[in-house]
Amino acid sequence: MGYIEPAPIKDKENPLESMMSRFDAAARLLGISTEMYDILKVPARQVIVGLPVTMDDGSIRVFEGYRVIHSNILGPGKGGIRLDPGVNLDEVRALAAWMTWKCAVVDIPYGGAKGGIACNPRTMSAGEIERLIRQYTVAMLDVIGPDRDIPAPDMGTGPREMAWIVDEYSKSKGMTVNSVVTGKPLVLGGSLGRTEATGRGVTVAALAAMDKLRMNPYRTTAAIQGFGNVGSHAADLLHERGVTVVAVSDITGGYYNAAGIDITAAITYRNSIGNGTLEGFIGAEKITNEELLSLDVDVLVPAATEDVITEDNAGSIKARMIVEGANGPTSASADDIINSKGILVVPDILANAGGVTVSYFEWVQNRIGYKWTLDRINRRATRVMKDAFDRVFETSQKYEVPLRLAAYIVAIDKVASTYKYRGGY
Ligand code: GLU
Repeated sequence: MGYIEPAPIKDKENPLESMMSRFDAAARLLGISTEMYDILKVPARQVIVGLPVTMDDGSIRVFEGYRVIHSNILGPGKGGIRLDPGVNLDEVRALAAWMTWKCAVVDIPYGGAKGGIACNPRTMSAGEIERLIRQYTVAMLDVIGPDRDIPAPDMGTGPREMAWIVDEYSKSKGMTVNSVVTGKPLVLGGSLGRTEATGRGVTVAALAAMDKLRMNPYRTTAAIQGFGNVGSHAADLLHERGVTVVAVSDITGGYYNAAGIDITAAITYRNSIGNGTLEGFIGAEKITNEELLSLDVDVLVPAATEDVITEDNAGSIKARMIVEGANGPTSASADDIINSKGILVVPDILANAGGVTVSYFEWVQNRIGYKWTLDRINRRATRVMKDAFDRVFETSQKYEVPLRLAAYIVAIDKVASTYKYRGGY
């Protein structure tokens, strides 16, 4: 598998600071006590492990792995495992907290967690990744579990990795425990619709927001940054709903066509070339990822990674609406600029919650030992997303704040009031 180095991200901002500054603002507006503030701020559990792995050449490399359970107040921890060279504890802590708020916003009975391993999966063989994932599972045996903390895919992981975790965890328990992770292959208890669930939810959120702004999808253009599991499905489904997707991008750069990209052709092309990128895709003009963000489009969907919209480039955004497919794509320093331009932002913890919602459905199906149809899953997930959107929208009107702050208010209020019922020492 070929590997193309992504363009370096300059002075990466700290996602934990971005998360905390929104959390602080919402906590202030809600008027929660300092005790409650501390309870919700400090992660419940943070684990760092060293993972020695025998590489294909016989050498042993030690990787650092993390799992942070930010909160288990609403239920077991829930959140993906990320394989990326930039993974560090601060990032995992921010992502774990975002999972807490995300699950609370869509009203599913989970706390928030996240895991990560600092490694570059694009330069590793399947065997090396398998040994790494199995080591990670063994190291986290007393952390994860169907009623304790349930991992799922995130950047750099997918159904294949989830299958290895099920296998390793099940061996240690002496029985098959497929509800220990979600996002599994279908044959192993995965759910129909899980793969496209995040992109589908992004589409539901985008359409709900367009409706509020009285935008007709058939007369709407969109640019989508990131062509992975979230971006490519969002592009496909937005296109299906009439939106003209004029630009998409991945680590090889952006691809622009004013008449609209043929999304089906782009997905087929990406799947056909060995390294899974759009490199060499014809039917579009090459632009940079940075140029994509400032295109004159109606809807911008950042669906790649954190902190791509910062105070440095927020001023040049021309979209009327940003729908955050990625976790934390907008740094807190950009919020004021975006708000003052009157851009409607559908925040990550709402917009990309469709993935964890169908993860929840997968876990429910595993536990009742029954498989739902795709139609039932999509219908229920759409309802969950629409209800959450309405809740957040109403809260934004009540408090006269942007949707992002409103989403944090909904989430923090839910977790804080649940804690009050449960009580503490
Ligand atoms: N990694 C995804 C997220 O950030 C999904 C998490 C899950 O399904 O548990 O929302």
